[in-house]
This record gives sequence, C-alpha cells and structure tokens, in this order.
Amino acid sequence: MGEEKIEELKGKVYEAYIQRTIKSREMFERACMSLAGGVCGNLRYLQPYPLYMTRGRGSKMWDVDGNEYIDCFLNNGPLLLGHCHPEVMEEIRQESERGLLIYNSDLGVRCAESLKEVIPCAERVRFANSGTEAVMFAVRIARAFTGKNKIIKFYGHYHGQDDPFLIGTSTINDEASSLGVPKANLGNTILLRYGRVEEVTRKLNEDADIAGIILDPQMSMGGIFPAGTEYLGELRRLTKERGIPLIFDEVITGFRLALGGAQEYFGVTPDLACYSKSVAAGAKFAAVVGSKEIMDCLVPGSPFTQRGDRRVAFQSGTYNDGVEGIAGAIAAIKTYKRLRQKGEYEKLHEKAERLAKDIEGAFKIRKIGCHVNYLGSSLKMFITDLEPSFEAYSKLDHTVRFLFFLSLVSQGILLSWPSVGSVFLSFVHTDRDMERIIEGVNMSLEKYKFEEVL
Ligand code: PMP
Repeated sequence: MGEEKIEELKGKVYEAYIQRTIKSREMFERACMSLAGGVCGNLRYLQPYPLYMTRGRGSKMWDVDGNEYIDCFLNNGPLLLGHCHPEVMEEIRQESERGLLIYNSDLGVRCAESLKEVIPCAERVRFANSGTEAVMFAVRIARAFTGKNKIIKFYGHYHGQDDPFLIGTSTINDEASSLGVPKANLGNTILLRYGRVEEVTRKLNEDADIAGIILDPQMSMGGIFPAGTEYLGELRRLTKERGIPLIFDEVITGFRLALGGAQEYFGVTPDLACYSKSVAAGAKFAAVVGSKEIMDCLVPGSPFTQRGDRRVAFQSGTYNDGVEGIAGAIAAIKTYKRLRQKGEYEKLHEKAERLAKDIEGAFKIRKIGCHVNYLGSSLKMFITDLEPSFEAYSKLDHTVRFLFFLSLVSQGILLSWPSVGSVFLSFVHTDRDMERIIEGVNMSLEKYKFEEVL
C-alpha cells in the first residue's frame, strides 16, 4: 500500500466530508470542551471529527447539518426495528405515565414472561442495564453455581467492558484491550481459539477450576466467523459432562439472528444467556436468563442454597426496574413475534445476503478483493484478497475500509460508523434503501478509484 497514495485519497475523502458537515465540525470543537474527546464513548470518535446526529426515524438519521442518512449502523445493532418504531414508542409513552422507576413492578413480570416464552434456555430471568452487566451477572452466577473461578473466553469475542473480558476482543492478543485493566483482573480468564474442540477439551481436562465457557455464537467483533452447530453441540456436550455452565452472549444475536436468538438458530441450548441491544429495540434494557437449576443460586431458600453454605449469589441494580426499558422490551418482543409469523426474518436475511453479494460484486468488477461476512442481518466487510479466516482478517489494516465508509457518509449512506465497521440491517430498510446503498457503493468506487491505493 503506497503511503503517499493513501494520503492523497484521504485528503479527497476528507474534503468531501468536511464540505457537508460544517456544523458537525463546530459541534466537535464545542463538545471537546465538555465531553472528553468530544464524544460520549470511545467508539463514537472518528477522523477528521465525528458526525453529530440529531434524530432518527425508520431507516434514516439526520445530522446537525440537516443531512439525511440511510442508517445501517443502527447504534451498533440494537435498532432492529429502525428508529422510533411506533409500537415501541407508544408502549414506552403509555407505560412511563406510571413513573420512570417502579420498584418491583407488575410490568417486569410481564416482560420476564415474554422473554421466557421465546428464548429456549430461559426458565428464569433477571434484568440488567447493559450487555456488560448481563455478562457480569451470568459469569457470577456460573461461578456461584460451580464454586469455581475460571472462565473460558475466545479470541475475537467481545463481551462488554468489565475488566476480565477486556482481552483478546478483536485480535489474537494476550494484552488487555484497554489501559487501566490490572493484570490480576485477567487472571481467571482463559483465552482459546474459537472453533477448535480439541483446545477446549484439553483445557477442561487439565484445569479443574473452570466455572464456565462464554461465547458470542457469531463472533461479531472478530468479523462474523460463526463456528456452527457441530462445534456448539460439542461445547454443549463437554460442559454438560462436567456440570459447568455454557453461556451464550446473545447481546448481538438475540432477536436479531432469530426470535429465539442464536440458540434457536443453531439448535443448541446453553445454560445461561445474556441479552441487550435488540431485545428492547433501542430502549435501555438487558437481561440474563437461564435454567431454573442454575438461576436458583440467586434465590434464598432454593434447592441450590440448601445444598451449600446457604448464601446466594448477588444480582441487583437500581435501574433494573426502569419502566422505559421494560416497556420497550415488551413491545419489541411482541413486534418480533408478529414479524416472525409473517416470514419477515427470512426476508430480512435475504436482503442482507443480497447486500453482501452486491457489495462484493461492485468491488470485484473493479478488481478489488472484498469479502463481506454475514449471518442473519449482521454484516462485516473486509477489503482484502485473502481468503476469509479470523486469524488472517484480525491482522488487516482497515485504513482503506475506513475511507470507503467515510466516502459513503458524504453520499448520505451510513453503511457503518466508519471507525467501527459493523453493518446491520433492520426490518424497516426498504428495497429503495438497498438500491441507494449499492448506487452509493458504485459511485464511491468510481469517484475515488480505491484500486489505485491497494
Ligand atoms: N456482548 C456483545 C456480544 C456485544 O456486542 C456487546 C456490545 N457491543 C456487549 C456484550 C456489551 O454490551 P453493552 O455495550 O451494552 O455493555
């Protein structure tokens, strides 16, 4: 890759972006005086400065300059029903008349019943506020249940930002993915490569202190390399034999890959699972669900507490009663059930497959190597000639992909937040949206001649 050519391309792509986003630039300068780095979370930053958005509706979002975007980032996934889905908004509006926080509400019971109805492993449910928290609780429950300490996690799997899981999140790397994570906090995390049964078998045989295995069934962060039914089935067998929980982190796959998540899609039922993102279609809500036997370690007087030292595992949170999140989840689940009945999941997945193929085709015509990995309605694009593998793709430099996504932004297409790279479709993306995306992809490739920098 010629550095000079890349700099030249960057200059052109930035120029088009800067011309259209004058108010975002002003907002960035202002934001830097109050928000650290001008953003409310690290991933929101992008060069030369981030876009600042004002609102969203359906498949569209608008920025502070008034530019409209087709949104295929969806706030990193949750907006599977698009922005402002009328039924979700209405349920939240109506239920929040009760108050924003109602301690131990009847609404929570209804929500738990809805989750239990559609998620195969969900015999019992607890609420949380983010994917990170749901993972934290699932792991604590696994440790309480087994009395063991270590957790097997895989390279390329992201499980939120609790210290023990901020390692090996996107690459094969044994260093913490963030500053500020003490080594001691990583000591109970065992990192293995996803998809290799023999590695898990060996580890389980040599270490008697393993409390559970956690995984994102589609390896979203590592680039969507799902390991498939057979592998998941083997993990199910190995964990069952040893009586240790298998935990699916369904924060991305839940409700998106299928109504019952990856566990329904792959036909493998874990012991515990974590939900956030699409479960409430954008409202702040999360849940940890699992078998009664294991979730009983949260319950005073349960069979679990009678066999041990009678203490329970602790799980709580002031905002677990948040009415907006719970109402959002109830309405979203109701909507997903209806969409499933109408065969809309299949249509959405076909749309994603067509998008992947059309993007690959547009690159191929110009002799640029491009692979779009996809599963259900999640996609990840790689500009490379290399054959797809997590090992190879985790080492790629994404500068050109970033510039490609940024060039689309200047055409009103937020195919991904350029610095993140994940693409998600929603049930409300129209055929016209899809056509416009492909027109935009072709225009960007034509205008910027990406083949000249590769
Ligand atoms: N698990 C997975 C698989 C995720 O993708 C994410 C977020 N991207 C999380 C956990 C953490 O969720 P949150 O950002 O809500 O804490």
